[in-house]
Amino acid sequence: MLHPAFAAPGEFYRGNLHTHSNRSDGVLDPSEVCRRYKAEGYDFIALTEHFVGRYEYPITDTTGFRDEVFTTLLGAEVHSGAMENGELWHLVAVGLPADFAASNSPDFQPVDGQESGPELAQRARDAGAFVAVAHPHWSGLTLADARSVEAAHAVEIYNHGCAVECDRGEGFHVADLLLSEHRDLSFIATDDAHFSGPDHFGGWVMVKAEANEPELLLEALKAGNFYSSQGPELKAVALNGGYIDVACSAVSTVIVQGHGSAAMSQHGESLTQARIPLDRFNDSPWLRVTVIDRSGKRAWSNPVWR
Ligand SMILES: [Zn+2]
Ligand SMILES: [Zn+2]
Repeated sequence: MLHPAFAAPGEFYRGNLHTHSNRSDGVLDPSEVCRRYKAEGYDFIALTEHFVGRYEYPITDTTGFRDEVFTTLLGAEVHSGAMENGELWHLVAVGLPADFAASNSPDFQPVDGQESGPELAQRARDAGAFVAVAHPHWSGLTLADARSVEAAHAVEIYNHGCAVECDRGEGFHVADLLLSEHRDLSFIATDDAHFSGPDHFGGWVMVKAEANEPELLLEALKAGNFYSSQGPELKAVALNGGYIDVACSAVSTVIVQGHGSAAMSQHGESLTQARIPLDRFNDSPWLRVTVIDRSGKRAWSNPVWR
């Protein structure tokens, strides 16, 4: 059984789903952000400004930067309510309508009477967005926090800005725990680029769609038809009887992970395929795959359910 991301028709389009410009706390104009991503070989981005009153609740109109080879999705990083540690929620919402109603979120501190993070996530999802829990490690997210966002489609499992600036870029700890509670989630790698430091072109999604068009990309994101990468390419992930088969660009390590401590790895030189037995995963309803190249760059599959 080939994972749907590889079985779906079309081709893979490379995109960054979490980006800031000077419409909030980023450094560059939206036009220059789009120009740089296009020049670096991206097929699409979402500008996701901080949706707070301080910046007048921006949903930046990037439609003017679309052309025959590059497109954009409208979105925002939305904020409301406190997490268990008392800090404000951060949620990435891609595919928001331009007239998405403002939350009551004047600035980066929670205020009394505003909707909770989970409520805002649900409102964004109901409005048509693909919703992801942003940078769990950077946020200090607890498992209870993560569990509460029932509307989330995805968890940000790698945030390049948080990795570069804080060494807190990862989200797999909480994502794995949610999978073991049978939560149907996908994983996104993003930049969270502000261009104030080396926080860009470090993590992206590869979305399988029939064309590089916003609606098709959004649909594929919601369906989980994508994988995440810092460099390596995944070409196939398939369950075949008692094995998982992986095809990829040349890497030095292929790892399969599952519930609890279950994991199996294969190491080698310039591996482009691997077959990993699943005996170790009998208790795991889900599996996922990581590949690592010689320079330490990773790619991650979405969960495989069985
Ligand atoms: Zn954030
Ligand atoms: Zn951000």
